[in-house]
Amino acid sequence: MTEPPAVARSVSGLPPAASAAYTAMIGDLLADYSALPVGAPVRLAKATSNLFRIRADTSTPGLDVAAFDGVLQVDPVARTADVLGMTTYEHLVEATLAHELMPLVVPQLKTITLGGAVTGLGIESTSFKQGMPHESVVEMDIVTGDGRVVTARPDNEHADLFFGFPNSYGTLGYALRLRIELAPVRPYVEIEHLPFTDERGCAQAISDIVDSGQHDGRSVDFLDGTVFSPGEVYLTIGRFTDRAPYTSDYTGNRIYYRSIRQRHRDYLTVADYLWRWDTDWFWCPLALGHRLVLVFGGSGSAEAVGATVHPASVPAL
Ligand SMILES: Cc1cc2nc3c(=O)[nH]c(=O)nc-3n(C[C@H](O)[C@H](O)[C@H](O)COP(=O)(O)OP(=O)(O)OC[C@H]3O[C@@H](n4cnc5c(N)ncnc54)[C@H](O)[C@@H]3O)c2cc1C
Repeated sequence: MTEPPAVARSVSGLPPAASAAYTAMIGDLLADYSALPVGAPVRLAKATSNLFRIRADTSTPGLDVAAFDGVLQVDPVARTADVLGMTTYEHLVEATLAHELMPLVVPQLKTITLGGAVTGLGIESTSFKQGMPHESVVEMDIVTGDGRVVTARPDNEHADLFFGFPNSYGTLGYALRLRIELAPVRPYVEIEHLPFTDERGCAQAISDIVDSGQHDGRSVDFLDGTVFSPGEVYLTIGRFTDRAPYTSDYTGNRIYYRSIRQRHRDYLTVADYLWRWDTDWFWCPLALGHRLVLVFGGSGSAEAVGATVHPASVPAL
C-alpha cells in the first residue's frame, strides 16, 4: 500500500454513537488489511457463505469482518436502513420488522448477507416489482483494493463503482455499510397456489401479473413459482393482509414446498412467509435419485427471469 489508509468520516444521517462505533470498526479493519502480507490474495473471513465451492487456497488469513454484522440504524420516516455489509438477512429482517418495514427484496436464506446479495445479485418473490437487492441501495461504503474506504452513490465521483458493484463478487472491493430503502409490511401474507399443467400458460400468467401488478383484479405483492415436473407447475401469489383466519407454520416438521400441492390458499405471518424456504433448503440435498424441483421468482416471465431458477434435488414427495 502506498498511501496511509483513509478512515471513514462520520456518516451523514447516523446518530453520533453509531457513527463513532462504525468509524472505530473501519479503523480496526484497515489495520488488519494493512497487516496482510504484501501481494497476498484478500478474502473475507466470515461465519457464513452461500457460495458452494471449495476455495483453492486458504493458507493466508482472511480479512476478519465478523464485526460487520449488524444494523446501525433504521429510519422509519425516511424508510431506510444503514446496514453493515456482512449483516445476515436474518438479522436485517429482524431489525426492520420491528418497525413494520422490510428490505425491498429478501433472499430465501437467512444466512445470505446484504453485501453478498448486492454483489451477487440476489432475487426473490418481490423482485417482479422491486428488482434486485442492489436496486434499492442508496449508497455504499466500500473498502477498495488500495485500502481506501469510499462512499459510492449514483450521483457522486464514485458512481462508476456504485453501478459496477452488482455482480462483481468482491472483485471491486467489499461493501462495509449500505443504506437501503425499506418497504412497509402488514402482519400477514395470504398466499394462493395456482396450478398449471402447461408451462406456456404459466409463463403467460407471469407476464400478465408483471404487467398489471394484479391477479383476479387484486393487487399482488409477492410472486414465485415451483416446478415439480414439466406438467406440474405452480405459481404462488402473495398478498399482504391485516387479518388471517389461521396461520401455518413450516418452521418444524411441516414442509413448505409440500403444502404447495396440498393447499390452494394459505396464511403465514410476514416473517414465516419470508423464511418459508429456509427451514429445509429443499433444493440443496445432493442424494442421487431425488426428484428435481425448480423454484423461480423474479422480474418477468419464466424465460426472462433467468437467474432466478434454482435446480433442486429433493426427496420423493
Ligand atoms: C444454495 C443457495 C441458495 C441460494 N438462494 C438464494 C436465494 O434464495 N435468493 C438469492 O437472492 N440468492 C440466493 N443464492 C445466491 C446468493 O445470494 C449469492 O450467492 C450471494 O452472493 C451469497 O451471499 P453471501 O452473503 O452468502 O456471500 P458469500 O457466499 O460469503 O460470498 C459470495 C461472494 O460475494 C462476495 N461478497 C460477500 N460479501 C461481500 C461484501 N460485503 N462486499 C463485496 N463482496 C462481498 C464474496 O467475496 C464472494 O465472492 C443462493 C445461493 C446458494 C448457493
